[in-house]
Amino acid sequence: MNTRIAIVGAGLGGLTLARTLHVNAVEAVVYEREVSPAVRSQGGSLDLHPDSGQRAMVEAGLADEFWSIARPEGEDLRIVDPTGATLAHKVVPKGAPAARPEVDRNALRDLLLSSLPDGTVVWGHRLSEATERAQGGFRLHFDDGVTAECDLLVGADGARSRVRPLVTDAEPVYTGAYVELGIRDADRTHPELAELVGPGSLWCLGVNQNLSAQRNGDGSIRVSITLRTDEDGVNTSGLNANDTATSKAALLDLFGGWNPRLTALIEASDDTIVPRLIAALPVGLSWDARPGVTLIGDAAHLMPPVGEGANQAMLDGAELALALNAHPDDRVAAVRAFEHAMFGRMHGVAAESADMEAMLLSPTAAADVSRFFAGE
Ligand SMILES: Cc1cc2nc3c(=O)[nH]c(=O)nc-3n(C[C@H](O)[C@H](O)[C@H](O)COP(=O)(O)OP(=O)(O)OC[C@H]3O[C@@H](n4cnc5c(N)ncnc54)[C@H](O)[C@@H]3O)c2cc1C
Repeated sequence: MNTRIAIVGAGLGGLTLARTLHVNAVEAVVYEREVSPAVRSQGGSLDLHPDSGQRAMVEAGLADEFWSIARPEGEDLRIVDPTGATLAHKVVPKGAPAARPEVDRNALRDLLLSSLPDGTVVWGHRLSEATERAQGGFRLHFDDGVTAECDLLVGADGARSRVRPLVTDAEPVYTGAYVELGIRDADRTHPELAELVGPGSLWCLGVNQNLSAQRNGDGSIRVSITLRTDEDGVNTSGLNANDTATSKAALLDLFGGWNPRLTALIEASDDTIVPRLIAALPVGLSWDARPGVTLIGDAAHLMPPVGEGANQAMLDGAELALALNAHPDDRVAAVRAFEHAMFGRMHGVAAESADMEAMLLSPTAAADVSRFFAGE
């Protein structure tokens, strides 16, 4: 295949695509705005699901490597209410086969990066716009004035994709706010909190707001606060969600009346507080095929963060590569087949993710989640 494929974005979706193309002897270039792989942490841990993230690793030829960095014990989950009473507790027995093992995002991204030929990822290239060429394909314009040409452009550039407007006018709307804190070296510095969180995750569900904690492979605990907001990013108390995150004291105010064992997670966190708004694209988003361009991952179907986004982004990457490989002489047909399958798959996943977020960030989250886990 002589098609020049440009992937914008070296996240999990773009890298899985590049890797799966590579194992099928098709090369692509990945343009990434960040200047190096080490410029920022990729975030905490996530679990890979058998039918999506794990399948993508198989198609990428990296299944064994994935299992060597996976943390099966990270699947443990305890859910409590604001008094600290346990609503549900999922324990994975030692040695039991892991269905959805956790993996640290940095480790997963490093694994994908190291599996690509040198030079596949071109760092420090932020796409500002892509213009259609008369002969088909696109010219890519980067922030520093550099341009590049491609026959097929894949937007894997996440929530605020610059490629997305080429196929749809849809824009994400805010659904919640997320504030991230962390406790380093938790077993040594805060053993009681390390025990409370256990080897996996702890979710504390309140009224329209949650406090969560998750064990990471480096011994740290990632603490997060999730608040329900309206479409302007204003939370249910009328506060702009970003304004609530200016200090730990302000965050503790939000959790007045909660069991101090739980709010100790906020008190024990270091002073790095990272607030962000959560947004989602419309459920069931699709577009009419446009030759020479497509989207994968969050660029195509940004969802609330309830455990599917990275898994589906990776599956998109693998499936697009397989479709291109199956139609070596007709990339338009390949992309159309990929998009058709992705739209069908994502409709249900996005609807379930929206429902899950609504349940977790509702006034009755604790009772609803108890019923959900009891299978009622
Ligand atoms: C708090 C939180 C927790 C989450 N937890 C989970 C979880 O447990 N499980 C799960 O499956 N999913 C989870 N998700 C969702 C998951 O993070 C995303 O769905 C996933 O990262 C999407 O991958 P992607 O490759 O499509 O996009 P991204 O990971 O966003 O990667 C996009 C890449 O494109 C680059 N880029 C952006 N714009 C440009 C540009 N103009 N030019 C060049 N490069 C550009 C970015 O720098 C980035 O490297 C969570 C999300 C959040 C916010």
